[in-house]
Amino acid sequence: MNPARKPLIAGNWKMNAGGAAGCALAADVARGTTAHDRVEVLVAPPFTALAAVAHELSGTAVAVAAQNLHPKASGAYTGEVSGPMLLEAGATSVIVGHSERRALFGDSDAVVAEKVAAALAQGLRPIACVGETLEEREAGRTLEVVGRQLDAFVRLLAERPGFGVVAYEPVWAIGTGRTAGPEQAQEVHAALRARLAAVSPTLAQQTRILYGGSVKADNARALLAEADVDGALVGGAALDAAAFVAISAAAQALAGAPS
Ligand code: PEP
Repeated sequence: MNPARKPLIAGNWKMNAGGAAGCALAADVARGTTAHDRVEVLVAPPFTALAAVAHELSGTAVAVAAQNLHPKASGAYTGEVSGPMLLEAGATSVIVGHSERRALFGDSDAVVAEKVAAALAQGLRPIACVGETLEEREAGRTLEVVGRQLDAFVRLLAERPGFGVVAYEPVWAIGTGRTAGPEQAQEVHAALRARLAAVSPTLAQQTRILYGGSVKADNARALLAEADVDGALVGGAALDAAAFVAISAAAQALAGAPS
């Protein structure tokens, strides 16, 4: 972590907790997230629970994100949800380019860039994900792959430095219980920051780069202690309020610790 950047702990609920369970989970997270002035915390419920969770969390220290958006603002796009709709439901951020969207729903680099552009145009904070597969890592292609993915949208982020967020999520670490070691994560985060710096030093200084991939209460502190890890995107552990709160508390403790 670097004191110049406020850490962000984001919980991605994926296709879980879409109704009353989402409101109960949100309430539990909010109860454990008091006075997190040094850390930003948000949860990303499924579309069906967005408005209710935003209502539940209003006036608390926890914000709401969506997990995806359609690049167009409205129109004949059956089954899709647009940025203005997300804003109206109470979301302030949106996850874009998650590896599950890339692998299962065909979100190419170009589509991810369109979605980042749409989010920015509509005033939603994009949390744009990049990450290599196990095959790509084993072939020594990690930095090439995440660099290509970042390049697709990096110039868009430069329009408003510090607003957009990047999340490094190695595909092989998502939902597998395998996590990148702190040094492995730091290596990739530093490379991503260097790529941001090539566009603009201000962008590099101000952009938060989150780590995601089997982050849990017991490994969060070591990951978050790395210089270029500015927070976490949490999947499985975000469905357990106590675990998620413990991760944000680890960030809070580190952010408050004297350097
Ligand atoms: C994710 O899906 O963004 C994620 C990081 O999941 P998990 O924490 O379960 O690996």
